[in-house]
Amino acid sequence: MKVTFLGTGTSQGIPVIGSTHPVCLSEDDKDKRLRVSVLIEVEGFNIVIDCGPDFRQQMLSNPIERLDAILFTHEHSDHTAGLDDIRPYFFQQGDIPVFAHERVMDSLRKRFDYIFASENKYPGAPSVRENVIQNEPFKVGKHQVTPIDVMHNRVQVFGYRIQEFAYITDAKTIEEEEIEKLKGVDVLVINALRKEPHHSHFNLEEALKFIEKINPKKAYLTHISHVMGFHEEVQATLPKNVFLAYDNLQITI
Ligand SMILES: [Zn+2]
Repeated sequence: MKVTFLGTGTSQGIPVIGSTHPVCLSEDDKDKRLRVSVLIEVEGFNIVIDCGPDFRQQMLSNPIERLDAILFTHEHSDHTAGLDDIRPYFFQQGDIPVFAHERVMDSLRKRFDYIFASENKYPGAPSVRENVIQNEPFKVGKHQVTPIDVMHNRVQVFGYRIQEFAYITDAKTIEEEEIEKLKGVDVLVINALRKEPHHSHFNLEEALKFIEKINPKKAYLTHISHVMGFHEEVQATLPKNVFLAYDNLQITI
């Protein structure tokens, strides 16, 4: 399984428009972060988690010929706003399978009514194949995916586990029984917004505590704000099995 970090930034991305913060002005490519998403390539099957506003740019940087599924974590714009840009895949493949909680699917139907319309569709508008999921394992192609239910303050979010890889973003609290589902993962991706506490995201300290509890072989931090600091400086402070993810990083599991 190959995982590509398509984006590792928080909702505004880095640099933030108009910001003169030193991290926003950094020339290190690892300090430039698009909105969070990952591409999972498993036995020729291509899965993207979330489809945010940078989707087009992300797929131009990491081109794949086929998109077999999009799994949504939740409905916030930084995770969904790029759905229109599935058009090139739709033209090649037809309806693109999307997987989401019922509430998230409802939100997508409102935001992208023309994509979900069944009559009088505008020619050229893409279509999706809806797969409403609950907090139970499901199949994407022949691959089992286990959702992990987490809370982003009051918003429910799904993390996903595929084989020994787990991806959780936008988490602030996670129930013990959901944590159980992460036992034995080799690679854990978890959100860490910044050093200071935040009402709906793990900060760095909370993320590191969580990683210690799960004890994966390797952990990667994502959904990072510019106020976290320079990539190189923050990385130097982390335990040796913990890495700040960066855009276009590829790992093999
Ligand atoms: Zn987010």
